[in-house]
Amino acid sequence: MTHHLHTRLLHTGSAPFDPETRTAAVSLPAMRTSTVRFADLAALDAAQERKAAGERAVTYGRSGLDTHRALEDVFSQLEGGARTILAPSGLAAITLVFLGLLKAGEHALVADCVYGPVRHLDHALLRGLGIEITYFDPAGANLAELVRPQTRMVYAESPGSLLMQMLDLPALAAQARALGLPLVVDNTWGSGYIYRPLALGADVSVVAGTKYVGGHSDLMLGAVVARDAELGQRLAAMQYALGYSVSADDAWLALRGSRTLPVRMAEHARSALLVCEFLAQRPEVVRIFHPAWPQDPGHALWRRDCTGSNGMMAVELALDTEAGRRFVDALQLFAIGFSWGGYESLVQWVDPAALRPHAYAPAPGNTIVRLHVGLEAVADLTADIEQALQACRAAG
Ligand SMILES: *Cc1c(COP(=O)(O)O)cnc(C)c1O
Repeated sequence: MTHHLHTRLLHTGSAPFDPETRTAAVSLPAMRTSTVRFADLAALDAAQERKAAGERAVTYGRSGLDTHRALEDVFSQLEGGARTILAPSGLAAITLVFLGLLKAGEHALVADCVYGPVRHLDHALLRGLGIEITYFDPAGANLAELVRPQTRMVYAESPGSLLMQMLDLPALAAQARALGLPLVVDNTWGSGYIYRPLALGADVSVVAGTKYVGGHSDLMLGAVVARDAELGQRLAAMQYALGYSVSADDAWLALRGSRTLPVRMAEHARSALLVCEFLAQRPEVVRIFHPAWPQDPGHALWRRDCTGSNGMMAVELALDTEAGRRFVDALQLFAIGFSWGGYESLVQWVDPAALRPHAYAPAPGNTIVRLHVGLEAVADLTADIEQALQACRAAG
């Protein structure tokens, strides 16, 4: 019998029973060790052989022990993949995929709505290695026109960073498949629970566990989940080459966070919709970017492809830069800060320069803020937005 994902999340990665005491810890402990002891050389040889065959076998602490294995299993359940590789941050996971699937002289097609630091990775590292990137508008993309003989990967993010642009992932996957290219998707927004790119046709899903999986703004972690074992093995080889290692304590925190992911996500989503309803009544609000909001242009795709939503939204306000900055400064419960997915509400004033490369961005002039709606009482959050709008108007 296959249980719901929600149920499996609570039962994956439990500690096995101790054969002597016949008991097991409910919460698997963080196994902090840099190395392991082998009973004899035959045990070492057996572990090496299993590893060479692509199986998980512990020979040294760098690639993780039981706590890491349990977390990998959780990510594989979430994303529906054959193999998960952990990384010390979400960006490290993205870097792992680019270096694992591309080499000098090769080329990748990248959606223009991807997480901003991907462009930094491009400038700071990939170009120097002779890896080229073409950015494309994912809404109107004809990949066949952009592909080169050296193209080896299509990389996207859905919904896209900053403006939550929903992509037609099955259509993009069909194009990539027709060209024989793997499709990699940053699924930090969905974190495997409300959106599952591998089931929609992608080959690799990348998640910043720092966000909703961790859920408490207290760890940095990334995961790369491959749909099939062969691609997973290629990426695992790159993880080994890069020497990536994740602290057992961070893996433990992420594992703990994963147990409550479904209830937290649902509450963030419920509050976010209430915040949308409040914002829609305000004369300063020009547009709300939140796929679960019925007026969002991506709403039909969201209904088709997602099983839930979260606390992320962007809002276009009819405020010039100065008034927009006053608004952000006047917020008290929404803390000014990057990142999201923790329990707390956050606001980010979006630099118009960061939106310039996105075909989806509205015309410049108005203020765009990105909100992460946290787990505070929603009436307090809407009251905070209300007082900040009033304060910024009074000051103007
Ligand atoms: C935050 C984020 C990342 C990077 O994660 P870190 O753990 O901060 O490195 C990657 N992709 C998206 C969409 C993100 O929001």
